[in-house]
Amino acid sequence: MNARWWLFALVGLNAAWVTDLFVLGHELDAPGGMLTAVGRLTGLYGALALVLQLVLISRLPWLESRLGLDRLTLWHRWTGFWVVWLVVAHVVFITLGYAAQDGSSVLGEVGTLVFHTDDVLLAAIAFVLLLVVGVTSARAARRRLRYESWHLVHLLAYLAVVLGFLHQVSIGQDFIGAPVGRLYWWSLYGLALGVVAVSRIGLPLVRNLRHRLRVESVVAESPDVVSVVITGRALGMLPARAGQFFLWRFLTRGHWWEAHPYSLSAMPDGRRLRITVKALGDGSAWLRHVRPGTRVLAEGPYGAFTARRRTRRKVLLIAGGVGVTPVRALLEEFVAGRRDDIALIYRASTSRDAVLADELRWLAAQCGARIFVVLGPSTAIGRFGPMMGPQHLAAMVPDIRHRDVYLCGPPGMADAVRSTLAELGVPDRQCHTERFAFAA
Ligand SMILES: Cc1cc2nc3c(=O)[nH]c(=O)nc-3n(C[C@H](O)[C@H](O)[C@H](O)COP(=O)(O)OP(=O)(O)OC[C@H]3O[C@@H](n4cnc5c(N)ncnc54)[C@H](O)[C@@H]3O)c2cc1C
Repeated sequence: MNARWWLFALVGLNAAWVTDLFVLGHELDAPGGMLTAVGRLTGLYGALALVLQLVLISRLPWLESRLGLDRLTLWHRWTGFWVVWLVVAHVVFITLGYAAQDGSSVLGEVGTLVFHTDDVLLAAIAFVLLLVVGVTSARAARRRLRYESWHLVHLLAYLAVVLGFLHQVSIGQDFIGAPVGRLYWWSLYGLALGVVAVSRIGLPLVRNLRHRLRVESVVAESPDVVSVVITGRALGMLPARAGQFFLWRFLTRGHWWEAHPYSLSAMPDGRRLRITVKALGDGSAWLRHVRPGTRVLAEGPYGAFTARRRTRRKVLLIAGGVGVTPVRALLEEFVAGRRDDIALIYRASTSRDAVLADELRWLAAQCGARIFVVLGPSTAIGRFGPMMGPQHLAAMVPDIRHRDVYLCGPPGMADAVRSTLAELGVPDRQCHTERFAFAA
């Protein structure tokens, strides 16, 4: 059973247990009984969905290396919508149910619940925090916020998890006087928070103390692209593979607080790591000025865009713009397996933007790989119709359907090429994509 099915099975089992917990001892005939019951059930499911969100974003290496951080982030985002709606439903139905039970007005019931019922104030704070996180994660709000500001607000969700939990175990009717239910709930939350603490704090701390990364050199690849070479101790023990990325934090004044994802642009050789970065905004543009010797903290390796995903002997690598970075590292790994049949398409606007092209040509020559550099604006039409359209891809690589396709580029390009691959009949399981953007 693969990681996806393990995860689905685990969620299904927990949903069943939660439903079972709830079914025990509910009086639907009492005034407001039905409303309260719906309120409790939505509350339990909302809490369960929140736990799932924690696990999805925990960056647990076992899960992450199989499913990829981009997919986990996307699922985390979808689950987030369910959390918000389930918790809103919980608040609305519970309030209406208790108001009917007490024969009071809805507003009066809100006052009684929040100010005169143990731990409901904590729950109310958790509710507001979740709403703030939900609203700032909506697409329109995300576009207006700096990534770092959004991320900071997003961290409030952890506080909401803890406050919500305290309220559940102190007044949740499904846990009071139900030792097995309480044990289950404590274990569930303990495990989820433990996984987050180990994967997001413990493991990066241990690795950074062990490897003590530093910038070795900075090389300009083009006017807006630089490569940064990083060294450290015992790098051979770092379980990084070609195609993966880290979240990099350069410890300089003014930038230590931002961590950016950058892929390795060379296969890790146990002595050095290299990243190649295009200046897109403030965070990436200043890297040009980072000094050799600067301390670096790295979180990772992350990503499932590796040779481990491979299903075929024949491979097509497709890179769009700076998406060439993990493709360059993968090609280096494939060069080692000399019997592979490799083709590579590198899409860039101009030859100046086709950074690392010489390195690709040199590597391709080592293993007899065919390489196509496709230049021109995104709207360009060539002999075979639109550039990177179905006819164009099929003309360059006629046996494309029989290959694994590794595709990396900016989201727009990656999505367009992915549809073209589907049109050409390349099975989904043979397509491996890195989009250079997490779920927005
Ligand atoms: C898995 C992955 C691998 C990547 N590898 C490379 C690479 O090898 N080379 C390269 O040049 N670029 C790479 N990128 C893109 C790179 O991370 C962004 O261009 C960079 O973070 C932009 O930061 P900025 O402050 O310069 O720009 P901004 O103008 O602040 O942001 C530009 C875009 O990048 C996003 N972004 C900003 N900061 C982060 C962050 N910390 N985490 C996630 N997204 C962020 C923003 O949401 C926005 O969409 C990769 C992205 C991902 C998701």
